[in-house]
Amino acid sequence: MPAASLEHARQILSTPISSLRGVGPRIADRLTNLGVRTVEDALYTLPHRYEDRREFRRIGRLREGRHEVFAGEILAAGEMMTQRSRRRVYEVIVGDGSGQVVLKWFHYRKEWLAKRFSLGHTGVFSGEVKRFGHQREVHHPDIELLAEGQTLAEYQSSDPLAFGRILPVYPLTEGLTQHAARRIWKQAVDLFARHVATHLPSDLRTRRGLLPLAEALQQAHWPASDTDLEALEEGRDPARRTLVYDEFFFLQLGLALRRRGQALEPGIPFQVTHRYTKLLAEHLPYRLTGAQRRVLGEIKADLMAPHPMNRLVQGDVGSGKTIVALMTALLAIENDTQVAVVAPTEILAEQHYLQFHHWLEKLGLKAVLLRGQQPAAERRLVLRDIASGAAHLVVGTHAVLQDGVDFRRLGLGIIDEQHRFGVRQRAILRQKGENPHVLVMTATPIPRTLSLTVYGDLALSVIDELPPGRTPIRTMVVTDNRRAQALELIRREIGKGHQIYVVFPLIEESEKSDLKAATAGVEQLRSVLPQCRIGLLHGRMSPDEKEAVMGRFKSRQLDILASTTVIEVGIDIPNATVMIVEHAERFGLAQLHQLRGRVGRGTAPGLCLLMKSLRCSEEGVKRLEVMESTTDGFRIAEADLEIRGPGEFLGTRQSGLPDFRVANILRDARVLEEARADAFAVAESGEFQEGSGGEGAAMLEELRRRWGARLGLASVG
Ligand code: ADP
Ligand code: MG
Repeated sequence: MPAASLEHARQILSTPISSLRGVGPRIADRLTNLGVRTVEDALYTLPHRYEDRREFRRIGRLREGRHEVFAGEILAAGEMMTQRSRRRVYEVIVGDGSGQVVLKWFHYRKEWLAKRFSLGHTGVFSGEVKRFGHQREVHHPDIELLAEGQTLAEYQSSDPLAFGRILPVYPLTEGLTQHAARRIWKQAVDLFARHVATHLPSDLRTRRGLLPLAEALQQAHWPASDTDLEALEEGRDPARRTLVYDEFFFLQLGLALRRRGQALEPGIPFQVTHRYTKLLAEHLPYRLTGAQRRVLGEIKADLMAPHPMNRLVQGDVGSGKTIVALMTALLAIENDTQVAVVAPTEILAEQHYLQFHHWLEKLGLKAVLLRGQQPAAERRLVLRDIASGAAHLVVGTHAVLQDGVDFRRLGLGIIDEQHRFGVRQRAILRQKGENPHVLVMTATPIPRTLSLTVYGDLALSVIDELPPGRTPIRTMVVTDNRRAQALELIRREIGKGHQIYVVFPLIEESEKSDLKAATAGVEQLRSVLPQCRIGLLHGRMSPDEKEAVMGRFKSRQLDILASTTVIEVGIDIPNATVMIVEHAERFGLAQLHQLRGRVGRGTAPGLCLLMKSLRCSEEGVKRLEVMESTTDGFRIAEADLEIRGPGEFLGTRQSGLPDFRVANILRDARVLEEARADAFAVAESGEFQEGSGGEGAAMLEELRRRWGARLGLASVG
């Protein structure tokens, strides 16, 4: 399609939904609630399931647990009282000669129902079939009643939208009936689907067996009668696959071009002098693992190139990411540039600061901490050190990215992600220097499908090996009412000279109530374990206070360290063998995995007790069971993702997860891999360039339209 007519087609697709027949201001409002403002929105709001109305199912053959459509005669109707709960229900018995089924309403207006069901009349019903004893029931079915004297055949031919085919079922909101929705969507599809142009290269379409987009939309809304129903219900039909592929392809193309664009920008090529890294290696009490050395090698190669590094390092808890980050930081400092370390929370920033400060000080280098709340005079000093270059490394939250924080020469940004930073934040970081190198570290493993989506523009390194000599941690879920046993275990371990962590949940953004919960918990511990020395660590302490408490625990002046999640990272005390997590159901699985990584670091085996309250939800129980069953961080992440879904898993704010219209990264993982491979191949081939016209230019234009703002693609091409 030539550019002008493409533009025209796009305009047509942005026609407001209110211009369709039957869409007045009230319905338009309701559609807006569903996210449907234009006809294009409607086209991409697919049915969430389908109803097989090619023929009615005989009542005698209704399948339990399925959503079925059947026709039958009303044999009896009336209000009943349930025997056990004395609740009123409205019941209608329907039969078609092959069997009978009972329709039930638990919430209803009696006059309304009574008026509708006259004995001997025929109706069409649909709903999920249940079985109670020998009786089959459908609760709150959809009903369509035939007019008096009308035959089923007459009724069927009166509404071609409703019979003889597979019907779409749309998500509804208050005040929008399925029938009305179908009419609106039918118009949208009939009138507008053909204006949706396909921008995928044709060889890919053939190779992947994809339909033209217009046809895919048509089919996804109104499947042909010979469509494989099972594939349709599982979202594997060619129409939906096409739409999913198309959606993934353009996102991945954007990510691929971003990666290529960055790869072409000038950077600061480093020389590897080993001045500080060698010194550090001499100070380290251990040798790097093979995986750490391999990943460092990948990082070094990036740093020495004339283009900026953009690399994600993933590794399970305890795989030793910190030392890799530290080595990378030293390489930057050796090249007379500064390092910014960005953490997602104040607490984590402090933790990182303590670690980096510890090592840098040994090497005669300076680390500073930029805090959110800091006395003005102190802050001025910190900012001055950053600007003058006296500070070699700065740790902070995203406050580091704010205006007013000026570096003498920023050479490297290390982002400790915890899933919270998106592409945008990385872009800001790059503007703080002359295209500094960027190293992103995920504190927790995330499933591959998610990392391809959220971090798809980064090169990936995985530390897939734990340092030697770790003993696996045993994890047990303990219900609150068996607390006595947990206490017994604490006494025993302390008797053996071991130490123990007790962790209280952190209630986000209310450190005060955290403190209260943790303080109360500690009082209670003290009263039942009077002989034990117990210290408390919480988020409202200054770094010095924290260091003091940790110091006492380290030197074994404390038996128990109680804390809010402050200890999530960084603490490393081999003599601590047991961790008890209070209200474990309130933690994310990844967080629990992080936490329990704090024990079992010495030679004695570690034990983690997850205390769950009696009221813990079913989902909560399921999640905690995952913790018992595996210590593999990637498997935990997969399970968590499956149980909670991607939005929750990543945390909703700034999750970095794009809103897909059709695709689902769990269900469509295979298609994602295909689309990604294809998109990266297309980007590599340089087959299309800006200004070169033709298919490539149109594809770029489409990419910008869909993902440009989100990916900051203005200058990509
Ligand atoms: P992560 O951040 O990946 O969870 P850390 O960097 O905190 O892990 O490292 C976990 C622990 O393992 C730390 O105590 C660290 O000192 C130690 N460690 C790191 N690398 C090695 C290694 N190669 N050999 C032995 N211990 C190591
Ligand atoms: Mg770490």
